[in-house]
Amino acid sequence: MLNSGYEMPILGLGVFRLSDSECENSVYHALQDGFRLIDTARIYGNEAAVARGLVRSGVPREEVFITTKIWTDDFDDAANAIDASLERLGVDYIDLMLLHHEGPNDEEAYRAMEEAVAAGKIRSIGISNFYEEGFARIMEMATIPPAVVQNETHPYHQSADMKAFLTQYGTVMESWFPLGGRGNTQVLFNDETIVDIAAAHNKTSAQVILRWHLQAGNIAIPGSSNPDHIAENYDIFDFELSDEEMARMTALDKQERFASY
Ligand code: NAD
Repeated sequence: MLNSGYEMPILGLGVFRLSDSECENSVYHALQDGFRLIDTARIYGNEAAVARGLVRSGVPREEVFITTKIWTDDFDDAANAIDASLERLGVDYIDLMLLHHEGPNDEEAYRAMEEAVAAGKIRSIGISNFYEEGFARIMEMATIPPAVVQNETHPYHQSADMKAFLTQYGTVMESWFPLGGRGNTQVLFNDETIVDIAAAHNKTSAQVILRWHLQAGNIAIPGSSNPDHIAENYDIFDFELSDEEMARMTALDKQERFASY
């Protein structure tokens, strides 16, 4: 339950770096498997492909939680950017819209999102790649507090301080690079602790990491174009990490980011 009063699934599909056809297929398979959250962005160039995957799946639009983001170049014309995303997504409301990064005119863009909430075009709003200082700056002008902060979060960068800071606003953490991100996943998948916990549950390292996100209260949006991986990533609701296993996962935090942005 978000501070906006809307419910958001805690597990979704991210479509960063997926081509149009990969994106459409991934959205289709994810929705068939049971996913009900899709995370895209204007800058990914695949909002229209998300729309096609949604239609192809036959899953009613209102059952699916759609997130998209306003890119920094559009901050000075955010009202139009919101309308353009609605059109490409083929929907008459967006479940969650985020400012993609901090940048010039981000406060004006945040205001435009608040106005779009009042107009019924967006249900919940949030920010991405903002840390305490940037969040506090937005809070000073906001009439609607961010429902979500979407930042790099995984076992080696658990965002514990930021999450603690956000609780006072009822804002929740959404993890990008939940598996470490393309090119980095093997580091996490081969981590001894994660391999050990996975073996104990007869699950994969990816599933253990996603289960850890879930139990840590992080919304996770793993990306994949592989239908088998997408199905695997949804198959995490039939096991539970013990308190001891959660503590071992917590101990993996190196406060180290994989991304350079
Ligand atoms: P990720 O951590 O989800 O890792 C993706 C990689 O993991 C891909 O190489 C994929 O093939 C692989 N993978 C996925 N499931 C697997 C499985 N079960 N077994 C083996 N390999 C598996 O990284 P990501 O996709 O970059 O990030 C997730 C989502 O977060 C993105 O798709 C996007 O929606 C969002 N994101 C947002 C920002 C931002 O600035 N707001 C930045 C990056 C990503």
